[in-house]
Amino acid sequence: MKPFMFVTDLDNTFVGNDTALIELSQKLNQHRQEYGTKIVYATGRSPILYQELKQEKNLIDPDALVVSVGTEIYLDTSRVPDSTWSEKLSAGWNREVVLSTTADFPELVPQPDSEQRPFKVSFFLQETASTKVLPQLSSRLKARGLDIKLIYSSGIDLDIVPQGSDKGQAMQFLRQKWQFVAERTVVCGDSGNDIALFAVGNERGIIVGNARPELLEWHNQNPANHRYLAKDFCAGGILEGLKYFGLME
Ligand SMILES: [Mg+2]
Repeated sequence: MKPFMFVTDLDNTFVGNDTALIELSQKLNQHRQEYGTKIVYATGRSPILYQELKQEKNLIDPDALVVSVGTEIYLDTSRVPDSTWSEKLSAGWNREVVLSTTADFPELVPQPDSEQRPFKVSFFLQETASTKVLPQLSSRLKARGLDIKLIYSSGIDLDIVPQGSDKGQAMQFLRQKWQFVAERTVVCGDSGNDIALFAVGNERGIIVGNARPELLEWHNQNPANHRYLAKDFCAGGILEGLKYFGLME
């Protein structure tokens, strides 16, 4: 057995099937100790909401934690985000300019402070107002020289983040840092915001059996031999996929 890089979304992917989660965590921990396998969590959660889940489900410590839509990477158990990644995101980003621009849109309601991050500004935006606000906001921000993207999801959440930040790009940054080839890297997910993980390159992909329609639809439209659609749900599906790819017994 050789080391590999294991990257997983948390909600409804790694977490959601308690029995299988215990088995998978034990196997991954053992693989890490014996062969130097790296474990990465990639979640849309903020650091605070990640800590809540970690406590609740007794998650094993990852080697790297990607949080807040890929805008922050924490190595080992560091409390300070990786500065190389932060520097990459700084180009074309200016939080103050984002805030002064969004202040002109009364439809944008700020999300709680815990969700406001150095490289992420988050609002609630009603779906009815979104068709008018989003294009206007996007062109105003770009006119002010910012290289950003707007992520609008669930008909209510709006995240404004640097163009270069998503789970997939954060994953590749770590893969290159630790020098894993795509064939020794596996990414796991269940929903639309995990498409960034699956679409960025040729890494092995595991789509859990409980995947949401938007991910299944994307998978059907973009079939690939290096992607496996599991039958079992959450961690059970991940165990199935790791066997399928011969990464773990
Ligand atoms: Mg998920």
